[in-house]
Amino acid sequence: MSATTKYIFVTGGVTSSLGKGILAASLAKLLQARGYTVTIQKLDPYINVDPGTLNPYEHGECFVTDDGAETDLDLGHYERFLNIPTSQANNITTGRIYQSVIEKERRGDFLGKTVQVIPHITDEIKNRVRLLGKTGNYQFVITEIGGTVGDIESLPYIEAVRQLKWELGNNAMVIHLTLIPYLSTTGELKTKPTQHSVKLLLEYGVQPDVLVCRTEHSLSRDVKNKIALFCNVAPNAVIEARDASTIYEVPLLMEDEQLDVVVLNQLNMPVSENTDLAKWKDFLQKFQHPHHEVRIGLVGKYVELKDAYKSISEAFIHAGAANDCKVSIEWIHSESITETNVAEKFKGLRGILVAPGFGQRGIEGKISAIKYAREQQIPFLGVCLGMQCAVIEFARNVLGLKDANSREMNPETPYPVIDLLEAQKKVTNKGGTMRLGAYPCNITENTRAWEIYKQKEIKERHRHRYEFNNEYLADFEKAGMRASGINPEGGLVEIIEIKDHPWFVGVQFHPEYKSTVANPHPLFVGFVKAAIEVGKLVH
Ligand code: GLN
Repeated sequence: MSATTKYIFVTGGVTSSLGKGILAASLAKLLQARGYTVTIQKLDPYINVDPGTLNPYEHGECFVTDDGAETDLDLGHYERFLNIPTSQANNITTGRIYQSVIEKERRGDFLGKTVQVIPHITDEIKNRVRLLGKTGNYQFVITEIGGTVGDIESLPYIEAVRQLKWELGNNAMVIHLTLIPYLSTTGELKTKPTQHSVKLLLEYGVQPDVLVCRTEHSLSRDVKNKIALFCNVAPNAVIEARDASTIYEVPLLMEDEQLDVVVLNQLNMPVSENTDLAKWKDFLQKFQHPHHEVRIGLVGKYVELKDAYKSISEAFIHAGAANDCKVSIEWIHSESITETNVAEKFKGLRGILVAPGFGQRGIEGKISAIKYAREQQIPFLGVCLGMQCAVIEFARNVLGLKDANSREMNPETPYPVIDLLEAQKKVTNKGGTMRLGAYPCNITENTRAWEIYKQKEIKERHRHRYEFNNEYLADFEKAGMRASGINPEGGLVEIIEIKDHPWFVGVQFHPEYKSTVANPHPLFVGFVKAAIEVGKLVH
């Protein structure tokens, strides 16, 4: 157990999308590589209780934790970098803060008092930050404040940071991430937006300790000194953050800039001689200099927004490196696929992944893609809705069940091969009511799933309402689609596969959430391997 937890806050200035999540994850990685225990938390300033009710166009992918929290996609980066699971406590929204303060008010916890933003909301925020420290599991808690300094909605968070900094003294610090724009006409890097952004923070009573400056060009010593002078930070605490070719390079860039050393000195923590990043560098080497290349089609309805499938594309990066292979993803819009153009669309692809999703839009395109993968013997991985579509396709085209469907898409279907469980039928609220989080699954021996996982019991994360309808299971098995992973408690089908096919697997859960740099997910590793093998046969 650590004596005192150190708290590091990461705020953002000038613009959004500068990469606070990646910065937080990279710093955490460096501290971890020096032997420290670290966790990262994200505070989101919107009023939804969690991002589960946001559609991906609004907020990118919704990341799911083991304990069933629907969270911001930055938590995915934290897990992928640190290789340790996060939980509900790692992502807090304004909605959740207000919900719990209002519940306390109704219970009478503040009886007689006026409930106000300061101190009640800020106290709730501070408690949520300290909660992770109090577990005793971490020497460092890095808290990323969503949004940009100056946003009305993030004010209570900045105020909570001000108070915590005061209360925690030397055990807390603030890193401010800003942008140094480059004016090509004059060839100059401009520091003014950063000065203004820091001024704004100072108005709120927060003095940043470190400035991380995103820039397209190297910052000269002069520019760094100027920023330091105007913003009251030490010159060595002005850190250059050049644009990187991949997010996985950022920890190394930050190491070069000695961000971890500056942070450790600031917090009076010993700086070890070495940083153990050997495995990380090894991964990066394989990722950036692979010997093979394979093209895989990703079929989904949000393909114009790559963030909607963040964990899947990252899982391909991990699995690619494990196979010494560059995985080039071809993003294919499910609505654009028809029975007639499918062969043209998938030409040259060595694997097809059909993505998770909700609702009817694009469903028929997904089903056509799966039929093609099944008939043409192309490696196929169906994730959640992708697995459900594989079941529908098999029902229609192999079992001959015309108009078979999921009841989500057609409540009147004569063959509801994907259906709601009794317990789900009574659910009326939409938020947080799906089958969420990690559930056990038993793997059947002598199956593809067994070959992939090589163990009897696994645990994977879920996020769905509908399930394989077991009334049809015997018919499916007889016709060659078998259930190779079963939930031991309810008998729910979690994995399906086709026997007479080079590699055809559908999973009701989301393997992508568990793939990390240190532990590439075996399903993705197996899928990419199969795609390479098939490619060899074609060449
Ligand atoms: N819409 C489907 C369900 O609710 C699948 C969800 C998903 O792909 N995450 O069961």
